[in-house]
Amino acid sequence: MKRVVVVGGGAAGMMAAYACASQGHTVYLLEKNEKLGKKVYITGKGRCNLTNDCDVEDLFKAILRNPKFLYSAIYTFDNYQVQRFFEENGCPVKVERGGRVFPVSDHASDVIRALENALKNLGVKIFLHSKVVGIETENNAIKGVRFQKDHREQELPAEAVILCTGGRSYPSTGSTGDGHAFADSLGHTIKPLTPSLVPFVTKETFVKDVMGLALKNVQATITDASGKKLYDEFGELLFTHFGVSGPLMLSASAKVNDAIAKGPLSLKLNLKPALSKEQLDKRLLREFDENPNRQFKNAVSGLFPGKLTPVMVKLSGINPDKKVNEITKSMREAFVELIQSMPLTLIGLRGFEEAIVTKGGVDVKQVNPSTMESKLIHGLFFAGELLDVDAYTGGFNLQIAWSTGYLAGLNVE
Ligand SMILES: Cc1cc2nc3c(=O)[nH]c(=O)nc-3n(C[C@H](O)[C@H](O)[C@H](O)COP(=O)(O)OP(=O)(O)OC[C@H]3O[C@@H](n4cnc5c(N)ncnc54)[C@H](O)[C@@H]3O)c2cc1C
Repeated sequence: MKRVVVVGGGAAGMMAAYACASQGHTVYLLEKNEKLGKKVYITGKGRCNLTNDCDVEDLFKAILRNPKFLYSAIYTFDNYQVQRFFEENGCPVKVERGGRVFPVSDHASDVIRALENALKNLGVKIFLHSKVVGIETENNAIKGVRFQKDHREQELPAEAVILCTGGRSYPSTGSTGDGHAFADSLGHTIKPLTPSLVPFVTKETFVKDVMGLALKNVQATITDASGKKLYDEFGELLFTHFGVSGPLMLSASAKVNDAIAKGPLSLKLNLKPALSKEQLDKRLLREFDENPNRQFKNAVSGLFPGKLTPVMVKLSGINPDKKVNEITKSMREAFVELIQSMPLTLIGLRGFEEAIVTKGGVDVKQVNPSTMESKLIHGLFFAGELLDVDAYTGGFNLQIAWSTGYLAGLNVE
């Protein structure tokens, strides 16, 4: 039996430590924070969307980068096994809209408690306030780690190390990219790290006037400078003080994060996607005919949620006080076009501080997909967001962490 150090007590690290200890190994779990799973606490707005109840095959469709690399990991510990694991460890789960799985209690803390109990039952030695500062190797094989605890640097010899230090998003939770530096220093390629599932910044500053406004069912179409369509989906959008967010735009960020690095992108919002142009025009005409002496700004107020009306009126270029019987057919048609193609310019993404995940990471070509072991350093394993894998929202990123952590822990031998 081996002495194994798991670096990072997040989702992947806790699961890796569990799987490894269940094989009978002596496992040390080193976490630099004062507690385990600091990021897990804030997932799913504190409720922890811990996986998705979809068919296993559909998990891969939700994974954006390197889904094939994850085949073994996911089939070894799939989304149903994850649910069973939590049920069996005192955290019953429920399925909500879109297959999202949450603890019945709606408390992420129960997910962490289940893992902590499982780790304690297996005798995993948990070291908190313990920041790993180096990985020791000899002849391309693991020798141990160096870590700081109580301002003192200590060595911990080990025959295997499972690196689970996460990505770089929400660095306040401890995910500051330490593992990428270790992997890099041991000869691994790190695919460029960029924020993903992150809000956009827009050129237009009027978004500030509607900040906090959520539009439930809009269509977002994003094109690049050459007119190539990069994203076209329906969903919920949220205006923020600097741009646009909400599930629709977070998903968009995961699709266009390379393109936006090259230059601004055009976003067209269809605010009335359920209506054809003709239907929308008829509706406007009806409003106008019923009250021909009404001012334009008042006549269209029923079309939009409160704060959006003045913005749309301004964008239309039509005098807000104009009587609707003075509005020409072409002005009306241009307004219909504006409602179904509201233009915004996406000029960038917000930073890692606001990103749900990190795109990029340890190049999966240098990792054995059946074991999660490095192909360069014997006894070095990787799991979780540190790897160049990421997925949409819906519980898929945690599923990746559980599956890769489990597979790595299982394969230390
Ligand atoms: C706001 C928010 C909400 C989210 N909601 C969801 C959701 O509902 N569902 C979902 O599937 N995904 C969600 N995610 C994504 C998900 O949380 C991550 O993908 C997942 O936590 C990654 O797990 P990990 O173990 O790889 O990394 P992390 O959870 O980031 O854990 C890494 C751990 O390593 C520790 N560490 C780092 N360096 C060192 C070091 N040198 N020494 C010791 N310890 C170290 C860190 O302190 C940290 O605890 C959310 C993310 C955010 C930011």
